[in-house]
Amino acid sequence: MPTIRQNLDKIRSSINDIALRCHRNPDDIQLVAVSKRFPVAAIEEALAANHVVFGENYIQEAAEKKQTLDNRIKLHFIGHLQSNKARTAVEYCDMIETIDRPKIVKTLHKHLESENRCLDVLVQVNVGEESQKSGVLPQDAESLLAYMQDFPRLKLRGLMTMPPYTPDPEMVRSSFRALREIAVMMEAKNLLGRHGKIELSMGMSHDYHVAIEEGATLIRIGTAIFGERPPLSQNR
Ligand SMILES: *Cc1c(COP(=O)(O)O)cnc(C)c1O
Repeated sequence: MPTIRQNLDKIRSSINDIALRCHRNPDDIQLVAVSKRFPVAAIEEALAANHVVFGENYIQEAAEKKQTLDNRIKLHFIGHLQSNKARTAVEYCDMIETIDRPKIVKTLHKHLESENRCLDVLVQVNVGEESQKSGVLPQDAESLLAYMQDFPRLKLRGLMTMPPYTPDPEMVRSSFRALREIAVMMEAKNLLGRHGKIELSMGMSHDYHVAIEEGATLIRIGTAIFGERPPLSQNR
């Protein structure tokens, strides 16, 4: 079995190749290593290979890892965020990629206010309009972004999506394209892009090449770095 370091090297060079092939600067594409359900030892291995940005989808697990690793990692939250976890999220996350409703905006802002801080966030868009998935529906994105303008402690950096699963990565191309088109539209309405470069978080282990071709600036990769994920534990 390849090591985590070897997997990281392979993905880094693949990001490089894909970017150059579609005339993009490889430095514009940031890798988020999705370490959910993997032990701290796996993160340590990635850290030793100079990787520092990790993605987690349960707040409790994210907070424990961040504490154990003594803030040596940057943590992106990529799961559904409940309001009663907002305070912990503010404390331990460097970016929240899954803003999807006014209530969580308001709650996060309140905690940021009391800490006198700001936080980088992305709005998650449910481009496939799947009922079981979180994320704001495409047609509601504009009103959520407009609402967020009154909550300046949330620094809106861009959009994120998790498209409908298909084994054929070509099938998700239209979803990635849809996210980019929403971003362009929102920028034209001056609802996005106030903090510089607009981030598009899209693409996972099996479809990141398509995502990069469609403009991804953040790709979230778990399995291809850490291997098959351990099953969900019962005690959540
Ligand atoms: C688990 C997860 C990933 C990583 O998926 P892989 O297929 O293991 O690369 C990416 N994004 C989100 C939101 C996830 O929950």
